[in-house]
Amino acid sequence: MFDVIIIGGGLSGLAAAVKLSLAGANVVIYEQAPRLGGRCYSYIDETTGDVVDNGQHVLLGAYHNLLHYLDLIGTRRFLKNEPKLSMTFHHPENGRGKFEISSLPKPLHLTAGMLRFKLLSFKERQRLLKVGLELNKWNDDLEKKLRSLSIEQWLIRLKQSEEARKCLWYPIAVSAMNEIPEKASALLFARSLKAAFLGKKSDSAILIPTIGQSELYVYEAQKLIEKHHGKIYLNSEVESLEVKENKIIGVILKDGNLIRAKNVISTIMPHALTKLIPNPLKKEQPFSLLDKFETSPIVSINLWFDKEFMDVDYIGLIDRNLQWIFNRRKLMNESALVGKSTSYITAVISAAYKLVNLPKEELITLALKDIHDTFPESRKAKLLHSVIIKEKRATISATNEVEQLRPSPGTPIENFYLAGDWTNTGLPATIEGAVISGFKAAEMVKS
Ligand SMILES: Cc1cc2nc3c(=O)[nH]c(=O)nc-3n(C[C@H](O)[C@H](O)[C@H](O)COP(=O)(O)OP(=O)(O)OC[C@H]3O[C@@H](n4cnc5c(N)ncnc54)[C@H](O)[C@@H]3O)c2cc1C
Repeated sequence: MFDVIIIGGGLSGLAAAVKLSLAGANVVIYEQAPRLGGRCYSYIDETTGDVVDNGQHVLLGAYHNLLHYLDLIGTRRFLKNEPKLSMTFHHPENGRGKFEISSLPKPLHLTAGMLRFKLLSFKERQRLLKVGLELNKWNDDLEKKLRSLSIEQWLIRLKQSEEARKCLWYPIAVSAMNEIPEKASALLFARSLKAAFLGKKSDSAILIPTIGQSELYVYEAQKLIEKHHGKIYLNSEVESLEVKENKIIGVILKDGNLIRAKNVISTIMPHALTKLIPNPLKKEQPFSLLDKFETSPIVSINLWFDKEFMDVDYIGLIDRNLQWIFNRRKLMNESALVGKSTSYITAVISAAYKLVNLPKEELITLALKDIHDTFPESRKAKLLHSVIIKEKRATISATNEVEQLRPSPGTPIENFYLAGDWTNTGLPATIEGAVISGFKAAEMVKS
């Protein structure tokens, strides 16, 4: 008999397990995959020896819960902390422009950053300030208004020109939300902007991992949980919940074993959770809503060349198939790298509905075109190796409709709690949201 069974060993499951283990609970994680980390993992590429992430993750200083988690497991030092937010964008006709938060005190830091963004006319830059002003007057009425708007509708109402949307807001929005601006929730985006720009100055800092994601988020958490006598079982799929009179008594694994516990936390995505719910309970909320969640894909294209050609750590591409390119060779800690003489980059396409089903060769052709146009020097570099990772269900779709469906941790089943980035965290589906949800579920168990 365990105190707590945690279904799923992604970041929300690990965060819950770390908190509960530290509080002295007897915890067990069942994870169906052969590894922990869920949608956030890394592995060593056999051809090059380099660490490949399933998708480049970018964190913000505003991710306070995630940073607390990293402090608990002792890996925060592996984040590269840019002192201030600075993003370079490449425009097909107008070349490069930098959006950079200045060192002036808040809120002038943001104002100055907007006024200096050279890819827009001065009038367009002045209009960027309208977004800052709107966020500054945050209240219930604004939340209510944003709840029914898409990002595109919101920005048009704030008189953001097509160029301003295309050159600044959309590249940020698509990667932050993993959804296209025509569909993505204005409320979630506005909340993310507010958290990044209107909190402490350090909240807007971009933090980039310098080691693989499994090393950063998983291995030390696993050690901590096991040190506190927690158990972790991989390749162990939970097949159903054992519920008697609205009380959970345990879970049944695929091998038929019933494992008993005083509490169960599910951290798995809605499409997986719905399969575990006993039939009579399927009609009750939130379980009746689980099959209404939609998801959005991310494609990551990892490329190795015989020459270095990127002169920046990362760059946002405007009006192209690739949205961001990261210079992994530059960003990663030396010890995580083997093939130092080659260039290693990762290109990311979020909300990749149109491209996710293309074959590898076509994706590489599209990627090379964008890379050659952005970095002309790259035409002289020879492509040595490539790895494409398609995460078809990378996150839930961050629309206003889906936002209405996201449940809180408590359920109609006593002592059964929900966590995961898709639950109601108030944020888009991010690792900060995953950790918040894991911590919340752990608090509910404790109380
Ligand atoms: C390519 C990509 C890029 C991303 N980029 C960013 C980024 O830049 N910044 C950011 O903040 N976030 C990013 N995210 C989102 C972030 O990775 C997720 O929000 C986070 O990892 C979700 O964690 P989770 O624990 O909620 O869910 P998951 O990671 O999905 O964990 C659930 C676990 O449950 C397991 N499971 C499922 N069913 C069962 C079962 N029946 N029995 C046992 N185990 C089961 C699964 O195998 C999985 O390991 C990105 C995601 C992807 C895919």
